[in-house]
Amino acid sequence: MQARDMVLSELAVRLNCAEYKNWVKAGHCLLLLRGCLHGFVGREVLAFHRGLLAADPGLGPRATCRSGSRCSPRARQFQPQCQVCAEWKREILKHHTNRNGDVYWGNCRPGLWPVDAWEVAKAFMPRGLADKTGPEECDAVALLSLINSCDHFLVDRKKVTELIKCRNEIMHSSEMKVSSMWLRDFQRKIQNFLNEFKNIPEIVTVYSRVEELLTSDWAVHIPEEDQRDGCEYEAGVYLSQSQVNEIEMELLKEKLQEIYLQATEQEVLPEEIANRLEVVKEFLRNNEDLRNGLTEDMQKLDSLHLQHQKRDSKEPRAQTLQGKA
Ligand SMILES: [Zn+2]
Repeated sequence: MQARDMVLSELAVRLNCAEYKNWVKAGHCLLLLRGCLHGFVGREVLAFHRGLLAADPGLGPRATCRSGSRCSPRARQFQPQCQVCAEWKREILKHHTNRNGDVYWGNCRPGLWPVDAWEVAKAFMPRGLADKTGPEECDAVALLSLINSCDHFLVDRKKVTELIKCRNEIMHSSEMKVSSMWLRDFQRKIQNFLNEFKNIPEIVTVYSRVEELLTSDWAVHIPEEDQRDGCEYEAGVYLSQSQVNEIEMELLKEKLQEIYLQATEQEVLPEEIANRLEVVKEFLRNNEDLRNGLTEDMQKLDSLHLQHQKRDSKEPRAQTLQGKA
């Protein structure tokens, strides 16, 4: 069998499983969502930042942090060492809908708050975004969290949190499968959310694309020699095999990144991380076409896991437990 045909047959086998296909479709919707939010979020963050500066000259643009590296947040902790950063922290909390809970200050470089709107935006987003310099580098959940946590965005927040919950269910699904009933519910929720932005044309466009995508059959046809390969929507909308592959790859990368963050932040027990990794590995063993593109991500996770194991085995309690087992 030729390499190209093998790749195609692996894809065909995967999409033959309805629940995996549902998972990829749902993930594709998240990618469409991310794409249509970039421009809107970018514009609104600039407007928000301009508004803050206009209302309070103490925030900038000529104000600068005087404490340099001493004004450095770590994870959820930030004790400003200068007047300007203290003022900014107060102002950010004033606009935070979650001001008493989780604020992940570690995403931000406070010294840049007076001049860089995006550094301010990151205070309204979840962990793991410190190195992102704009909305186009962020995934859907980061943008949704910003919209949810910053009171500059006037939306029905219940619709945002419902969608965030769906996203987490997609990414945490250990088998990378969702049922058709779940997918219908997801369609309702993502469309409810998109409906909140009736005056933003690029968001309105995605409403019907989501509809098309989620109601199409998305069957994969193994082509004859002289046909183009790929999948066809019944309505004639066409995604090539490499486009489907690209979507799968993006989703798996996001899933692995999520596992990585959960492991580094120790939000999930090491055994659970090991289980999740094992499921992905087993999946990749059977799907060479995806495995090759994810080598680096898997190695990153493996070495982190190894570090944790080494550290744990140095703790005497862990040794006793292992000894008993
Ligand atoms: Zn400072």
